[in-house]
Amino acid sequence: MAATPTVPEVVLPSSTGQRKMPVMGLGTAPEATSKVTTKDAVLEAIKQGYRHFDAAAAYGVEKSVGEAIAEALKLGLISSRDELFVTSKLWVTDNHPELIVPALQKSLRTLQLENLDLILIHWPITTKPGEVKYPIEVSEIVEFDMKGVWTSLEECQKLGLTKAIGASNFSIKKLEKLLSFATIPPAVNQVEVNLGWQQEKLRAFCKEKGIVVTAFSPLRKGASRGANLVMDNDILKELADAHGKTIAQICLRWLYEQGLTFVVKSYDKERMNQNLQIFDWSLTEDDYKKISEIHQERLIKGPTKPLLDDLWDE
Ligand code: NAP
Repeated sequence: MAATPTVPEVVLPSSTGQRKMPVMGLGTAPEATSKVTTKDAVLEAIKQGYRHFDAAAAYGVEKSVGEAIAEALKLGLISSRDELFVTSKLWVTDNHPELIVPALQKSLRTLQLENLDLILIHWPITTKPGEVKYPIEVSEIVEFDMKGVWTSLEECQKLGLTKAIGASNFSIKKLEKLLSFATIPPAVNQVEVNLGWQQEKLRAFCKEKGIVVTAFSPLRKGASRGANLVMDNDILKELADAHGKTIAQICLRWLYEQGLTFVVKSYDKERMNQNLQIFDWSLTEDDYKKISEIHQERLIKGPTKPLLDDLWDE
């Protein structure tokens, strides 16, 4: 297996103590077909040099991620929890101002951690409090009090429960609204970005406002879903062959060259290592010309059933 590179980091300007985030993190959204447990995958990832983990209350993985971190400390793979950057996300049932602090405290207990590095609003939607249900029934949706929720998240950062706070799946319009009242601006907006959904406008807006973009589904769910706009793309196959790399590596290198951070999920030892091998080579101008020809289409259209018309404000 190839040697472990050091993953570059970016500073989160609005975080406590100017926290640094490794540009590449390991995704932990569960897949029913996975034979490897989240605990084993996170432990293996730490061995391989991953230091950034992307969890969420709704994924049901916080306990396993926490157990892997505890085990890594016990084994001496890391000397302090602070060597890791741990993100979690609040589910839509907790997007009520009075439920934010207790929901984050519950995540921390499940993770066996004293604080998070980053907590995100998973979706700009609120439902009645209760159990996680996916997809979200539209009949369960109530008004999303963005200002009240954000003020509670600011409280979480002030209380030291998290080093940074951020959004996920926020459009430009929603970020503009958030920035109009935020006293702590969002450190991050985590959204779908991949070669089949390049999100140029949203990325330019975030750059101008100092919001770090984290790309999710960077491989468009890799090999797991039938026809895949990037993993089965002939243009990308050609680029991969020319560089002696895999399509996944071309996808991740492109994200890195865009100055983005990204969370890629692999629970497979070899692919985990392969995904780390993207920091010492470059795409060419000609590659960029070819990449601009890739058909653009959003993969993750929304978490509700039926889909909401105005979720993306387009
Ligand atoms: P992804 O990372 O684009 O793709 C994951 C799939 O690709 C898995 O099936 C994985 O299988 C496969 N894969 C990984 N590396 C590969 C490689 N080198 N070659 C071939 N196949 C490879 O998709 P994702 O899980 O949707 O997104 C990543 C993370 O983003 C999630 O896990 C989650 O943490 C986050 N996310 C957040 C949101 C949000 O609303 N904020 C939404 C979606 C995802 P193996 O495990 O078998 O390698």
